[in-house]
Amino acid sequence: MENHEQSCKVKFYSGEDIPLELHKVRVVQKLYLNPIEQRLKAIRKAGFNTFLLSTTDVFLDMLTDSGTNAMSDNQVSSMLRADDAYAGSQSFVRMENAIREVFGKKYILPVHQGRAAENIISQAFIKKGDVIPMNYHFTTTKAHMELNGGTIFEIYKDDALNIKSSNPFKGNIDIDKLKALIQKYGAAKIPFIRLEASTNLIGGQPFSIQNMREVRKVADEHGILVLMDASLIGENAYFINQREDEFKKKTIKEILHTMFDLVDFAYFSSRKVSSTRGGAICTNREDLFLKMRDLVTLYEGFLTYGGMSVREIEAMAVGLYETTDETVISQSPSFIAYLVNELDKRGIPVVTPAGALGCHVDCMGFLPHVPQTEYPAGALAAALYLISGARGMERGTISSVRDEHGNDILADVELLRLAFPRRVFTLSQTQFVLDRLTWLYKNRHLVGGLKFVDEPAVLRFFVGRLDSVNDWPEKLMAQFKADFGDSL
Ligand SMILES: *Cc1c(COP(=O)(O)O)cnc(C)c1O
Repeated sequence: MENHEQSCKVKFYSGEDIPLELHKVRVVQKLYLNPIEQRLKAIRKAGFNTFLLSTTDVFLDMLTDSGTNAMSDNQVSSMLRADDAYAGSQSFVRMENAIREVFGKKYILPVHQGRAAENIISQAFIKKGDVIPMNYHFTTTKAHMELNGGTIFEIYKDDALNIKSSNPFKGNIDIDKLKALIQKYGAAKIPFIRLEASTNLIGGQPFSIQNMREVRKVADEHGILVLMDASLIGENAYFINQREDEFKKKTIKEILHTMFDLVDFAYFSSRKVSSTRGGAICTNREDLFLKMRDLVTLYEGFLTYGGMSVREIEAMAVGLYETTDETVISQSPSFIAYLVNELDKRGIPVVTPAGALGCHVDCMGFLPHVPQTEYPAGALAAALYLISGARGMERGTISSVRDEHGNDILADVELLRLAFPRRVFTLSQTQFVLDRLTWLYKNRHLVGGLKFVDEPAVLRFFVGRLDSVNDWPEKLMAQFKADFGDSL
């Protein structure tokens, strides 16, 4: 595979700091920006939940990067040569070779998506009463670990949740907290330490290799395994290259090998890594492989497909090789950095430094008049959709749960995530979102809260329905029309 060591950072004569697309668009999908009256109807019909919008009502789909990255020409063409076979498919051999070459792990277990890997790992390693230290949880990770009787402990550094920060590695584990946890519960109760690359729920924030080495040292002293969630691994490797002195001159491939060498086993969702479905668990330890193997055949499928189609396995293999190409993995972080830095310059509250996956707007800073019990992140997601047709994802109290008394457990941070799937959006689309957010910030006093009208007991953020606490959406629309006339 070719590997051009280039990034999207190109100097402009004008001195402007703008990212450059190092690809050309060859297949396109038409988008619709509907009139605001239609958007208001759509968001009301969706119960103010952006998950429930239909894509025909959405202009820029910034809900997630999961399965929505643009595929490369090489990925699409690889799907044609897929080897249909229940067992022994050459497509799987190509995927194994890709994981061996790119991640340096030799035993591979395929799964249908990331959370399936979490199910298998949790069932194989966690028993009731166990304790799992990690930098931060992911929704599905936490659910599977708790289902198997484990309790998770998030031992991030004290400043990791600060919205405004210059800490390049907010995803690091606090080593003193890790030692204290082992001291308190004992190594026998800790099946593994989990490190999540480009820590999703705190704003796509990476950890450093220095931190991985320190975690490894403590783990070795106590005979504890180290597990890495590598779903957003490419971006974490890119940030290490950009932000950690020792690795400035290393290739992404060398950095990936260094990272994987420091963990006993890893898993990933290839919805994120390579924009296909599927995922895998990988390790160099045969004993760990054997401990999980039979759960794959039980829950996922035979060991050479694991619930994936062979076409997706082919595209995943190519996607893994492309993860070592800096032009591919720098694209999304460069666009995110552009939007984050421009918002920051305008005084609009946003998580800094810019991370992976998306731009994270700080909704408690944006809407200080909306109490957390009225879901400021959900309200801002609905308001931005209304005035722009762009849909983001609520990552705040709606994504949390209630306690045994029925009260909301208030989230640590209320974020509106605007995802940047790789190579999907252009610079002018990014500038459009920036422009509308700037207008919304100026008119933020018009945005009010939300209340639940239909609330599922589990993972309520997916299909729950809400309503506005009053007619603020109509007032916001009136101001929009006053300022924008009959523009979309
Ligand atoms: C998306 C994601 C998962 C779950 O993967 P799915 O393919 O959606 O099941 C797990 N961990 C992280 C960090 C993720 O971003």
